[in-house]
Amino acid sequence: MDRQAKAVVCREWGQPVQVETITVEGPKRDEITIKIAACGVCHSDLSATTGKIPYPPPLVLGHEAAGVVVEVGEGVTAFKEGDHVVSTFISMCGKCSQCVRGRPVLCENARKAMFNLPDGTVRTKGADGEPLNVFGACGVMAEFATMHVDNCVKVDETVPMQNAALVGCAVMTGVGAVFNTAKLEPGSRAAVFGIGGVGLNAIQGCVTAGAEMIVAVDSNPAKLAMAKEFGATHTVNINEVEDAAKAVKKMTGGVDYAFECVGAGPVVEQAYKSLGRGGTAVVVGVADPKDKTSLTTLTLPADERTLKGSWLGSARPQHDFPRILGLYKAGKLKLDELVTRTYTIEEAAQAFDDMVAGKNARGVIVFE
Ligand code: NAD
Ligand code: ZN
Repeated sequence: MDRQAKAVVCREWGQPVQVETITVEGPKRDEITIKIAACGVCHSDLSATTGKIPYPPPLVLGHEAAGVVVEVGEGVTAFKEGDHVVSTFISMCGKCSQCVRGRPVLCENARKAMFNLPDGTVRTKGADGEPLNVFGACGVMAEFATMHVDNCVKVDETVPMQNAALVGCAVMTGVGAVFNTAKLEPGSRAAVFGIGGVGLNAIQGCVTAGAEMIVAVDSNPAKLAMAKEFGATHTVNINEVEDAAKAVKKMTGGVDYAFECVGAGPVVEQAYKSLGRGGTAVVVGVADPKDKTSLTTLTLPADERTLKGSWLGSARPQHDFPRILGLYKAGKLKLDELVTRTYTIEEAAQAFDDMVAGKNARGVIVFE
């Protein structure tokens, strides 16, 4: 059935987000409709409103949500009404060579579902009946969303929705960059550049994986204080040093792993430069498509350095989301502390402004 839903929409790049009442159609084959309970505000949502991530408007934002299944489409057996689910922007076909080798974030077919459902269409319409694109096959910054079953992961019903939501992006991205992409060895030294929702989770991933030193790098003292609460052993304020990479190197002798959680070529360069011999820099931040990074080529072979990327923490969502929630329940990952502030959907523009101002670990929109 069609449902009316308040939704956070980008109508035009460079303009504040708008809250609109949209129509969310019921599920087709292999789809489910979710009543959204909570949705985190990620920097990637902001990037979609500026065109840095060039998803075409009109676009329903949101890719980091938890909710309850209210309707299942034909052929759906894995979900039933009442199940708690977390959204995932990884659209995996399950059949291509990347999926079968266990790398669904690289699914060959997923590129077709960047701002629509995997079949190329959407279930969302504006007041005038025109189709609305959806961020990452999700569009979950809305009271309801209809998604393909592969963009939903069933989760433990005892976890509060606002915590579970964050596993859909920030937590999986940060922790997964450490666990899955870097496969950080215990006793390593690490640096994290950019202490937002993603960087804080890279820090706690380093803690859980047994890093010896963890240096947090940011320009915002409040973020560096949060970094300490999440387990950073040292901090560097980029405004207080001439060269952040040199400062990290001086403290650590050169890190084994550096995580770039900003999304800018110059910061990738800093992360790479902070490495010791044999080190690995992992780029997590999403830069503008035109952005470039340069590095001293000789250091790749002579120091056996590695520069690699990480998309949603190299997740296998159906496996990793429950694994991460298990670590939370075991007291080994902080999720409660990640939610600095909750917002109503009417306050969505404020939530984006607060992220830009660096006020929150994560701001979360909570629905009634
Ligand atoms: P955020 O806005 O919450 O945090 C970004 C942090 O970077 C802020 O604390 C800011 O002060 C800091 N920063 C800015 N410039 C800096 C610099 N030059 N040096 C050091 N720190 C600096 O953002 P977030 O939600 O944590 O997202 C971080 C990045 O990760 C974004 O680019 C986002 O698009 C990207 N992202 C990537 C994936 C992925 O799958 N790879 C998933 C989610 C988000
Ligand atoms: Zn995100």
